[in-house]
Amino acid sequence: MIENPQIPTGRFAPSPSGRMHLGNVYAALLAWLSARSRGGRVVMRVEDLDPRAKSGPWTELLMDDLRWLGLLWDGEAVYQHDRLDLYEEAVCRLRERGLTYPCFCTRAELHAASAPHASDGTPLYPGTCRGLSPDQVAERSAGRPPAWRLRVPEPGDPAGAYAFTDRTFGAHRQELATACGDFLVRRSDGVFAYQLAVVVDDAEMGVTEVVRGRDLLDSVPRQLYLQDLLGLAHPAYAHVPLLTAPDGRRLSKRDRDLDMGELRARFGTAERLLGHLAFAAGLAPAADPVSAERLADGFNWDLVRAHREDIVPAPAARSPR
Ligand code: GLU
Repeated sequence: MIENPQIPTGRFAPSPSGRMHLGNVYAALLAWLSARSRGGRVVMRVEDLDPRAKSGPWTELLMDDLRWLGLLWDGEAVYQHDRLDLYEEAVCRLRERGLTYPCFCTRAELHAASAPHASDGTPLYPGTCRGLSPDQVAERSAGRPPAWRLRVPEPGDPAGAYAFTDRTFGAHRQELATACGDFLVRRSDGVFAYQLAVVVDDAEMGVTEVVRGRDLLDSVPRQLYLQDLLGLAHPAYAHVPLLTAPDGRRLSKRDRDLDMGELRARFGTAERLLGHLAFAAGLAPAADPVSAERLADGFNWDLVRAHREDIVPAPAARSPR
C-alpha cells in the first residue's frame, strides 16, 4: 500500500514507555520539519510491540503532546500490536530461505560471553546456536522456546558490509559480522524484534525518510540488510543529536525534569517551547516564540549538521503561567 513514493514521507514512531522529553520533542520536530518543508507527509506508528508497554497511559499523552506542539500527522495512527501478522509473514519468508535459526542462549549467557558489545548495548553474538543439529534443536526446544536469529554474512564477505550516508552524521560503514553478529528477529517470548518490525512497517507505510535519535544510528546497517533480504526500498536516514540535561546526563523518559508535563507548565505555549528549542539547536537565530509551521519555512538539514554535537538545553528561566 505504498501510496506515492515521490511524496517525502516521514514518521513519528514513539514507544509508549513514558512521557516525551525534550529530546523526543526535538527528534519529532525534525522529522516533521524535514517532511513538511518539502510538501511531504508524516505518518504515526505507536511502537508497542512489547506487551508490557501496551497498557500504560502514555500513548494518549504522546499524541496530545504532539498535537499541542502543532506537530500533526496524516491519517490514522497505526499500532504495532495490531500488525503481528505482517511481522510473522516476514519472519516466515526469512526462515523459508534458511536465513534464520533458533537460539537457546539465555540473556545471562549472552552477557557473560566476553565478546564486545555493539554500541547500543547488544552483545556481539558469538554464533553459539548457529550450527545446532536438528536433534540438538529438538532436545533444547523441550526445555524452553527458542528465540530466532538472522544469519549475517561471514566476516570479510562484502555482502555483510554496509555503507550509507546519514543526513546529519555523514558517511558510515559497518560490517554486521563484527559489529553485532547474527541478530534477533524474534525473542523467545514471541515478541518480534524492533529491527524486524521497524523495517516491515517503514516499507508498508511508505516511509521515505527516517528521522530519529542518534542512539539508533548503529541500527541502520541491520535495517538495510533486512530491507535487502525482504526486497524493500531503503529510506533516507537522518539521526538527530541527543540532548543532554544541564548536568550532562542524557535525557531519559524516566527523568521527569524535562518531560512534556513539566515543559508545558514551564513554557505555557507551544510557540515559546519551540522557540527555545529551535534556538538551542541552531534552527532559529533567536529564542523568540515560533510555530512549527513557521520553522518549516526556513528549514534545511545544513542547520542541523552545523549543530550536530549533543545539545544542552539551557534551563528555562520563564515562570509557569
Ligand atoms: N520507538 C523508538 C523510540 O521511541 C524509535 C524507533 C525508530 O524511530 O526507528 O525511541
